[in-house]
Amino acid sequence: MHSVIQQAKRIIIKVGSSLVTNDGKGLDSAAIAKWAEQIAQLRALGKEVVLVSSGAIAEGMQRLRFEKRPTGVHELQACAAVGQMGLAQIYESSFRSFGLGTAQVLLTHADLADRERYLNARSTLFTLLRFGVVPIINENDTVVTDEIKFGDNDTLGALVANLIEADVLIILTDQRGLYTADPRKDPAAQFVHEAKAGDLSLEAMAGGAGTGIGRGGMLTKILAAKRAATSGAHTVIAWGREDQVLTRLAGGEAIGTQLTAQTAQLTARKQWMADHLQTAGRVVLDAGAVQKLTADGKSLLPIGVTEVIGEFGRGDVITCVDSAGRAIARGMSNYASSDARRIIRHSSSEILAILGFVEESELIHRDNLVLL
Ligand code: GLU
Repeated sequence: MHSVIQQAKRIIIKVGSSLVTNDGKGLDSAAIAKWAEQIAQLRALGKEVVLVSSGAIAEGMQRLRFEKRPTGVHELQACAAVGQMGLAQIYESSFRSFGLGTAQVLLTHADLADRERYLNARSTLFTLLRFGVVPIINENDTVVTDEIKFGDNDTLGALVANLIEADVLIILTDQRGLYTADPRKDPAAQFVHEAKAGDLSLEAMAGGAGTGIGRGGMLTKILAAKRAATSGAHTVIAWGREDQVLTRLAGGEAIGTQLTAQTAQLTARKQWMADHLQTAGRVVLDAGAVQKLTADGKSLLPIGVTEVIGEFGRGDVITCVDSAGRAIARGMSNYASSDARRIIRHSSSEILAILGFVEESELIHRDNLVLL
């Protein structure tokens, strides 16, 4: 087995609360510096890296002198707000010492469920990566309650992997990976080096909860791997304190548990779009645009659209039909229906003059489009 990270171009690295805060004792600057140094090396190899870091609540508890995790929602939110300052500070200074800038990105579930915010988050992350900055993501804990939470940062890591079509999700944790049973209780437990992401037998192996400091246990990591695999991302679960874990993985060494995605990247994403999204409206395409989409694999430009039917917002999924009304594609619109009506039949260079702003030059970018 070879590490899938060697080939990966875009990597999400998730670090859990117990690692970041040294089991709740306070931010572990030495460990953070080691990851930052390794991430700098991955960047030097041409890989794009996004970090998803937990630890805000754990660090906030320290700073506000809570002995144990508070149960009140607002106390937890206050801890997160205080602790997040510590995270931002330590990451920025640590990465800075290795010549890298960082950016803080706080997301909520609603940000990814809403198409417009989904597209905005995606574009911003791509822009940050283009600038060579390392985005550092956490859940926006101060404004979420249990009902509307991602729940844990393993899930958030997987959703971010889907969001920016990462090749690999690396989950760094306080365990070496997945065992067939709990090794503390079952001497016959064996380490799982490699398995298929989404294999149901893994969920039975993972069983129980985590350390009590963070939210996720091994099960949430297995489920995160399954979720990441829907957009073609492989997952590696490894011990965060393993010496040079990230650079060794990038060198092809097999460390931890590797959960391999079975679907090719593009297919999975297109399948996701085709299967799961309701469409809010339709656009009628002229013959030229139909040809560009179906035969040439191009994006849909406003000039190729003759009519906009229904009401939709930016980021909503709409159906593209030909002049006979046959559905030929589905995709996320960069413009709301009211704006789309004004720019259709016009060339993209006229968008600014018509609307006074430009979101994108395409009505639907080909990355956000699936042929039916
Ligand atoms: N977002 C939470 C924090 O930073 C952690 C969630 C988790 O442990 O997965 O404290």
